[in-house]
This record gives sequence, structure tokens and C-alpha cells, in this order.
Amino acid sequence: MGIQTHILGYPRIGVKRELKFAEEAYWKGESTQAEFLEQAQAVEAANWQAQVDAGLALLTVGDFVFYDAILTQAVRLGVIPARFAESAKLNQVDQQFYLARGRAPDCSDVAALEMTKWFDTNYHYLVPEFTLNQEFHADFSDLLAQVDRAKAFNQPLKVVVPGLLTFLYLSRIVDGKAEKAAATACGCGSEHTEAAAGYIANHATLKFIDALVPIYAKLFDDLKARGVEYVQVDEPILVLDLAPEWQAAFERTYNLLQRRDGLKLIISTYFETLGENLNLAVNLPVAGLHIDITREKAGEFFWKKVIDQLPAHKILSLGLINGRSVWASDLVQLNDIVVTAEKSLGDRLWLSTGSSLLHVPVDLRSEQVPAEIEGKLAFARQKLDELVALANGNISENPALNFALQAAFDLQGQARQEPFTERYAAQQAKFNLPLLPTTTIGSFPQTAEIRAARAAWNKGNLSDADYEAAMKKEIAYAIEQQEQLGIDVFVHGEAERTDMVEYFAGLLDGFWLSKFGWVQSYGSRCVRPPIIVADITRPHAMTVKWITYANSLTDKIVKGMLTGPVTILNWSFPPAHRSRREVCLQLAEAIRQEVSDLQDAGVEIIQIDEAAFREALPLRTADRADYWDWTVKSFKHCSSSAKVDTQIHTHMCYSDFKDCLPQITAMDADVITIETSRSGLQLLEVFHQQGYPNAIGPGVYDIHSPRTPSADNMRVVIDGALKTIPAERLWVNPDCGLKTRNWDETCAALTEMVKMAKTVRAELEAKKATA
Ligand code: GLN
Ligand code: ZN
Repeated sequence: MGIQTHILGYPRIGVKRELKFAEEAYWKGESTQAEFLEQAQAVEAANWQAQVDAGLALLTVGDFVFYDAILTQAVRLGVIPARFAESAKLNQVDQQFYLARGRAPDCSDVAALEMTKWFDTNYHYLVPEFTLNQEFHADFSDLLAQVDRAKAFNQPLKVVVPGLLTFLYLSRIVDGKAEKAAATACGCGSEHTEAAAGYIANHATLKFIDALVPIYAKLFDDLKARGVEYVQVDEPILVLDLAPEWQAAFERTYNLLQRRDGLKLIISTYFETLGENLNLAVNLPVAGLHIDITREKAGEFFWKKVIDQLPAHKILSLGLINGRSVWASDLVQLNDIVVTAEKSLGDRLWLSTGSSLLHVPVDLRSEQVPAEIEGKLAFARQKLDELVALANGNISENPALNFALQAAFDLQGQARQEPFTERYAAQQAKFNLPLLPTTTIGSFPQTAEIRAARAAWNKGNLSDADYEAAMKKEIAYAIEQQEQLGIDVFVHGEAERTDMVEYFAGLLDGFWLSKFGWVQSYGSRCVRPPIIVADITRPHAMTVKWITYANSLTDKIVKGMLTGPVTILNWSFPPAHRSRREVCLQLAEAIRQEVSDLQDAGVEIIQIDEAAFREALPLRTADRADYWDWTVKSFKHCSSSAKVDTQIHTHMCYSDFKDCLPQITAMDADVITIETSRSGLQLLEVFHQQGYPNAIGPGVYDIHSPRTPSADNMRVVIDGALKTIPAERLWVNPDCGLKTRNWDETCAALTEMVKMAKTVRAELEAKKATA
């Protein structure tokens, strides 16, 4: 028997995003559940066929779920919050969609489960909500049915389940208060990261171990009875800095779950090395361990340490094909590791991907790859072949992988010279803005007309000139609306942008935009991250034409609108040949040049969005200082070309600033607009306590909701802010861009917003006059 090969998981969206389209049609009532299931199972079968075709030794079962694996597990365990009581009449398929979307056939709409980022990826999982006295009602019949379907492929099976402890770690106990808070949230499906009041510290979920152990044990018995040989128990939290109570819980839980009947449990860890948990992980009483060696640092020899410490009977699954990268592996180099590992482990060595392949596009064969990167890329399907080639020792040098080694890119990173107080005084004097100036975050509705024009232009059915004219018409419309609304600082509305990252990636040199390189972000939502293939440069100005056109239509100030380097990097696939730090600084230099050009063209306020500033924060605390060093440096570099009286804004959707406010402060933007409408006053409290010195625009209403919030409602945020932030440093704005709303909703909400700002402003001025 040669070396065993397997993967931790395969993309479930399908080569042509079949699952997405099947789901969305089902949700709209355009297909029946039976039709939906048939379409979904076709993707499931195609995924297995891909593994068989590639020649993998084990067939992986259970990674295929409709929306999210943690959600599926919650439903299988009967963890259904009270507000979904009507789900009692649904089967598990609809129950999952009800919890994820807050909507199901014949059920009342309720707030969906909160969604949050999956470790350091751009994938989002749904956060299970437990009550203090949570009870479980297990039903794994759909997983067992999946096993039965997989048997048709006549391969040894390995079933994937979320590990008991990872499941508990990622869940939350929600008391009545938080349940109420969650019930008023919008359920729009966008990222809700607020630490809502009432959440109880996460180790509280440990008390459910005893209730869940028998359920897991019974599931394992059922799998064994069905002829399953291996279970991949996903415990990725083993890569985090774990508190002692969690480490102890691992020992206890897996002692209780020990098997003596031949069913082999493989604990799988990914996205990082094991750090302080190495000893714990290798010694758990199970049959094997999977480790991800694609993240190990130079000189760490993590995999060797694991081999040294691994008990003599255990399987080691080496994750050496990078499940997060779109680049082909250097098989020659990896083969050296395989040869060494095999010497110690013999047939206890398995080969695998570092993590699930969920995080990379499905198949490169659908793409027209440009000559410069021909042979250099590998998507999920290609990674299966790499794995099998490694196991068979079928290795040859891939000449395409000889990246010409360029000199390291270094940029110390410049910063603005004058302190904030001096800059802000100069800016406000020049702009002559009222107290509490009103503005918006950048985008206005992306209407059907805009999308139709862009589609026609992309197909070649609309000339460049006609497309430009169509976009200008939209810009003119946005300017006219803002005049009527009486907004103080205008935006051009971003009609010409598909997406805040893709737009810039399309104009900078060094990116490749794939056609079908979709990756699941959450549920049926997929993103197509640009791929950074070379050094980044800016051949020409990217936004000046649009902003100056908008500027020419009004006497008001129009804010220039850029996406920051950290966000562009975090929402792209990084290159193979440069560190993320270097790439980020290259991007920063390009954005700095754009800031210069905008300024020269007479743009006086420039916003540099950093919606994803915190997104790739390393999982382990020890690695974070370095991340903050290059991210903050990059942002400051962008704004370093701004004159003292050019005002730099930034916008962040992220609301959890507790652990990064010093870094946000260090970015030193003149004005930061933030998402406060949901996380509310607590967030402002953090800004106050930690003494944020610059100007802030707390989002006064939630743009995710189609409802028109009243001026009084919005006032709550500003009144709260005024308690801790001087009026001179406060701005009034929605909490994010408006591209997902329609114009009616937008104008209705902004009318209320302007009304509120004027009322509060008049009161403040009256107070000043009498003082
Ligand atoms: N300027 C962008 C917009 O308004 C910001 C989007 C975001 O923060 N996600 O659409
Ligand atoms: Zn935002």
C-alpha cells in the first residue's frame, strides 16, 4: 500500500456555482425542495468523482453542506433558538436556511443567526446560539444518507464532522437580553460582528461537554456500523492560544470519546501550526492527527517536532498542499519532506491539503490563463493532482515555478508631518463646514440600469464612450440628489465600480482577474478575489476622471473615494513570490500616487476605505504586532502625500475595536466613519475610554435595513456621541455604503439624517449663544 491521500474538504459551490443558483432558485420558490436536493446532490457527486478521478485513496464525506458546516451541525444537534420555534414544522434542509436567513416557507421572518469570520479566512460561519439550559436532540440521518450515497463510489470512506470542542468554542450562550438584541438585527446576511450585550464568555459552553459526548459517541457507532473506517474530527481551535480550561477539556473529551472498535478518529487542525498545544494535540487518545504545515515559519521545523513527539502507533496526516493559495506547489521541495517523513512514519504517513479547499476556486480548466502565469496556478481540482503526484513520487521540476527573484521591495513608509490638531484646524477653516457635517460613505444605489450598462459594455455591446456617458449620467443624478437633500460633503456615488477591490485591481498592474475563480464567502454568496501575480504599479490615475466630473457639477465639496491597501490585499489572493508586507507597501505606494493626483485635481477631501483592515489579523497573539506594523505603515504611507489642508477620511465596517483601537488611532486619519448603528454606544464608549483624538462619524443608521429609520432614532447615536466627543470633532453619516439600497429608501433615510443633524446643530448653536 502506498501513502494514503485525502483532502480536508472540497469547494461545495460547484464548478459553475451550481449550488448557489440551485439554492437561490429554491429560496425564491422557483423550484421544489426535491428539485433543489437533486441539484445539490449532483454537485456532491461531482466532488466525489473529482477525488476518484484524481486517484485519492480516501473519499471525503460530510464536508458537503448547503450553507455552512457549523450551521448544519447546530441543526443536527437541535440547537435551534426560541425565535425559530416555527421551524418545528420544517425538515432539516429548511431549518438550516431558516436559521441562516431568518426566512422559511410558511414561517414568520425573524432575525437570522449572527454570522462571523471563520478564523483568518474571508469565509463566514453561523454562530450557534445556546441557552443556559440548552438541550440537544440529535438527528444525523442526513449525514448517514450521505455516507450511503458515497458508497456507490466503492472507495474507503472518511467522514468529516466538526469537533465537539471547536463547535462549543464557536457557539455562544445567549441570555434573554441578547436574544432580544439579536431579534431586532436586520438579518441581511452581511457580517454581524457586534459583541451584543448579553453574550456570556465563551468558556461557559464547556458545561455542555457531558451532554454532547454520548451524542458524538452514538454518531461514531452509527458511522462504524455503516462501514466507515475513518472520521476526520475538525478541531481547528487547537491552533489558537487556548486558555487552560480548553486545553483540559480536550484531554477530558477525547478520553471519553476513545474508541476500541477499530473506527479511527483523526483530529484535524489547520490554518496554523500548533504552538503551545503541540504536546496536547499529539497525545490525544485518538488514531491520528492532521497538521497544516503550509503556515510554518522558516526554521520552525514544526512538522519534524510533531513527528518526534508523535506516539508510535499514530497516523500523521501532513497537510502540505496549501488550501488557501491559488499557486501551484513546488513538488520537488515538498517531496523532500515526504521522503523524510516516510522514513520515520512508513505507512502511518498520510498526505493532504493544509486546510479544506473550500477557500480556493474550483477548477483552473475553465480559465484562459495569461502566458506569464501559465503553469504557475493550481485551483482545488489541480491540487488533488498535486497530492497524488506527491504520494506516487511522480515528481518533476515545474519550470514555471522559477519566479524570477526580484530584489526585496522596501519602503520605510512615510507619514504626514503636521499633527492632527493643526491639520484639522486648517481643513475646517478652509471648508467652512457647519458643526456636525453630514456625509455618506461612498456608494449610492447600484441600480439595474447601472448593472445593465456595465454588462453590455463588458460584452462589447456598449462603446467606451457610451459607457462613460451612462456612468456620468448616474453621477450627475447622485449629485443632484445630494443637493436636494442638503448634504454637506458629497460623494460621486461609485456607479462605475463593480466592487471596491475589483475596480482597483482592474486598473493596477500586477493583478489578474479570473473569470470563474469564485470562492464561497457565506451561504450562496461567492466572491471572486483578484489574484496578485506580479509587482503592483499604477500605470495611470484611476479615479480622477470620475471625481473631477462630479466636482464640476457642484459648489459643494466632493469626497474622493479610494480603497486602502490593506483591504485590497486582504480581499485578493496574494502572490507567491512576495511577503504580504511587501505587497501591501506596493499597494500603498499606488494609492499614495492616486491621492496626489486627486489633490492636484482640486479634490480637498479623500476617503481611503479600510473595510477589511483587521481581517487578516494573525490567529495567535504573538504574531499580531508585526501585522499591525505593516498595515498601519501602509495606510499612513497612502495619506503621506496629502497637504495639511487636504482632509483624509477612512471608513471601517468593522465594529470590534476593543483590541485594536491603538492601531486605528495610529492610522491618524483626520476623520473615521464607523459602523455604530448596531453595536451602538458601547463602541463609542471604547473610543472615549481609550481617548481617540481625531474626528469621528459614527454611523447613525443601519443601511442593511430597508426600513426608514426616524430622525429621533438616529439622534440617539449622536446624543450618545456628544456625551464623550466634542461636537467639533463629530460627523453625521450612515454606517456603510448605500449601494445595496434603492433610491427611494436612500433618500427617505438621508432626509431624516439631515433633519436630525440640523436640529441638533441648531440646539448646539443656541446653547453656545446663551453660554
Ligand atoms: N466606499 C464604499 C461604499 O460606500 C465602502 C464600502 C464598505 O465599507 N464595505 O460602498
Ligand atoms: Zn462599510
